Amino acid sequence: MRPVDPTTLGVPDDARQVLDTLWRHGHAAYAVGGGVRDQLIGRAAHDVDIATDATPDRLLTLFPDGHLLGVYGTVDIDGIQVTTFRRDHRYADHRRPDEVTWSLDLAEDLARRDFTINALAWGRAAGETGPPHLVDPTGGLEDLRSGVLRAVGDPDARFDEDVLRILRGARFAATLDLEVDPPTLAAMTRHGGDVAYLSTERIGQELHRMLDLPRPSDAFRLLMAIGALAVALPEVADQRGVTQAKIPGDDLFDHSMRTMDAAAAMPERSPELVMAGLLHDIGKPATAAGGRYLGHAEVGARMAREALRRLHTPTPVVARTERLIAHHMFQYRSSWTDAAVRRFLRRTGADLVDDLLRLRQADNTGSGVPADATGVVELRERIRGQLAAGVPLELGALAVDGRDLLEATGRPAGPWVGVLLERLLGSVVNDPERNRRDVLLGDVRRWAAAPGSPVPGMAAPHQGGPDSLAP
Ligand code: ATP
Ligand code: MG
Repeated sequence: MRPVDPTTLGVPDDARQVLDTLWRHGHAAYAVGGGVRDQLIGRAAHDVDIATDATPDRLLTLFPDGHLLGVYGTVDIDGIQVTTFRRDHRYADHRRPDEVTWSLDLAEDLARRDFTINALAWGRAAGETGPPHLVDPTGGLEDLRSGVLRAVGDPDARFDEDVLRILRGARFAATLDLEVDPPTLAAMTRHGGDVAYLSTERIGQELHRMLDLPRPSDAFRLLMAIGALAVALPEVADQRGVTQAKIPGDDLFDHSMRTMDAAAAMPERSPELVMAGLLHDIGKPATAAGGRYLGHAEVGARMAREALRRLHTPTPVVARTERLIAHHMFQYRSSWTDAAVRRFLRRTGADLVDDLLRLRQADNTGSGVPADATGVVELRERIRGQLAAGVPLELGALAVDGRDLLEATGRPAGPWVGVLLERLLGSVVNDPERNRRDVLLGDVRRWAAAPGSPVPGMAAPHQGGPDSLAP
């Protein structure tokens, strides 16, 4: 049982003014939906939606500042959405009603809502006086009390009308820690594959909200169980049954769930860290051979980019997730030299390395070993030391630039400039003492004149020799 007390219900002042105006003019008006639900369970309600028997035209007369939103007659009044009671008809596309008609009946409006916990209203009927009160024709209050997610009416019919309700249901169950009522769960399972009717963008919106949860696996395991994940994110569903020698009884899917949850539990969590936790091993099924997964990080990084683009993940988040996955297989040893630590930093990028180490900690947790195993703490300390010393890691930190190279060689610009700058950077990453103009320009002149030099017109093409730049 949860503490659910309808006598504490209310709405913020601006919403109350809208309700008061409607009541004063003889209309029925109620706060409905997620705002009422969240308040009943003591969560901050992030929006108040109002339902009323007043038609959109009437609303625009009563509230001259209001404006129409979308096609279903919702009127926005200073950020508060007011919608006329309605009845929905025929859902040919499994998503949107083909037609809606206005209604004077609150019960009819609540009957078209998805779950009982979302079919609660608080307000007054037309002409009614006395204190506003809760209206609950579907037993939503009792379901909230006992922690049950139940579809309004016949669950098969409701998911058939609008398949988005399945993803919403998984999200509500995970967010509010609800058990799905068995008939509702059975219908979700029968219709799980219908998620294919949704646009990838809509699927992405729901999945992103699930990834934001404190323990996203609650949602993803449910999606898996009802067969919706195989459509929404087949790359992850394909991990089911791929064996792992990490935690007894766990397969690769379980490992990904644990890794994602560990990433989500970190104080420094970010969307890309959680996504990388979920997706870091998606390259494994495709690369599995003889108990090994050669190249799975690179394959997985590409697959993650495609999956996240499909789900309309913001581009910078896609890019960082892809890089995290591509680099997640590093094998640190205490025997690494400082130069090896710097090469690692240059390869992964100083901007990514903190998240990469966090990903490794989450991966460790997901593998049943202590988060700080595999030398993470030591490597982090050594990286801090290098960064604090201000070691050069990027071309911009070199003591020379492209212009200096043109002057020193007297040759026209070309791709060779980039080639030599990268080579110079490699040399100063190995030995930061060398990052001096005279030393680096000496290198450039020597390399330019060497046999096989990439600098055009400086030396006869020639293969070999100890200083050769030929590949
Ligand atoms: P949250 O805003 O926290 O995601 P919510 O329940 O408020 O949850 P909204 O999308 O804001 O969700 O919708 C408001 C209300 O509209 C819901 O509480 C529900 O009553 C109804 N509703 C929304 N989407 C659907 C749907 N696809 N099918 C049936 N009813 C819906
Ligand atoms: Mg809402």
